[in-house]
Amino acid sequence: RAKAKGRNATQFFSAEMNARAYEDLLMSKALRDALERDQFILHYQPCVSLVDNRMTGVEALVRWHHPEQGVIPPSTFIPLAERNGLIGQLGHWVFREACEQTARWRMAGLPPVRVAINVSARQFNRRGLIQEIAKLIADNGLTPRDLHMEITESMMMENPERAQEVLRSVAEMGMDIAVDDFGTGHSSLSYLKDFPIHYLKIDRSFVMGLPEDQGALAIVKAILAMAHNLNLKVIAEGVETAAQRDILAELGCDEAQGYFFSRPRRASELTRLLEANQALPVKSH
Ligand code: C2E
Ligand code: MG
Ligand code: MG
Ligand code: MG
Repeated sequence: RAKAKGRNATQFFSAEMNARAYEDLLMSKALRDALERDQFILHYQPCVSLVDNRMTGVEALVRWHHPEQGVIPPSTFIPLAERNGLIGQLGHWVFREACEQTARWRMAGLPPVRVAINVSARQFNRRGLIQEIAKLIADNGLTPRDLHMEITESMMMENPERAQEVLRSVAEMGMDIAVDDFGTGHSSLSYLKDFPIHYLKIDRSFVMGLPEDQGALAIVKAILAMAHNLNLKVIAEGVETAAQRDILAELGCDEAQGYFFSRPRRASELTRLLEANQALPVKSH
């Protein structure tokens, strides 16, 4: 009896495993098709200076327009692409598209805001990443200064020596580096000085508590003091209210991003914002 029970349990377990593997396989196929059929699109979210609320840059954020399921957010398909190895191709598409759009904005004579591009862990660890990026930049008549690379703390900490090497090449090329979602990873602060980074992006979870939450306030103050002592600039993520913007400006945070200023928008909408070149948010009449 025990033997029979054991066998049933095994069968049940593997059936569930198979269902999950099957679902992953289906999504992987859909993702591969999506790359061929051009179902991805980049949206761009403005980043503003907290001195004058003018746009300093935009962050490119990828979306998947699935024919049946509608818009699928990156939190769903980036991890999948990392698991099934498609991240190289997807990451290349993102860089190429962002470079082409940046070149269009430059050619149109719009204010030269930088374009920040997110790089995920497996993409970061691929050999040839630097050469690939350098070629896309050159092919589009850009310079590395036109772009920013966003990485996360965990990517620096997983293999610090290798990360330092890659980041040094990026920085030597002239591209600024931002550490995304700062405060959520497990980096020891003393590590930061050993990496050629230029910006820290304070994670939205800390900004959310401002201005009332004393704990969040203390953490934001500590990050600002440490970053500025290390000569890094700070960008606050997820700013949704005027009160959050005001306290961050008062504390000396350099830049901010969030729904208060603008949601991520299509390139065409961003073009209009850049043409207007005014402080954000744009007041409606
Ligand atoms: P992230 O790089 O930290 O991007 C910020 C996320 O916060 C974006 O979500 C953005 O839409 C959202 N956000 C911005 N302002 C606010 C706000 O005021 N309130 C709230 N609640 N959310 C706000 P999104 O576009 O869904 O992207 C999620 C994550 O997916 C990104 O986090 C990034 O880690 C990853 N990702 C996005 N695009 C790419 C890409 O092209 N390549 C890679 N490797 N990862 C990407
Ligand atoms: Mg980012
Ligand atoms: Mg972020
Ligand atoms: Mg975040």
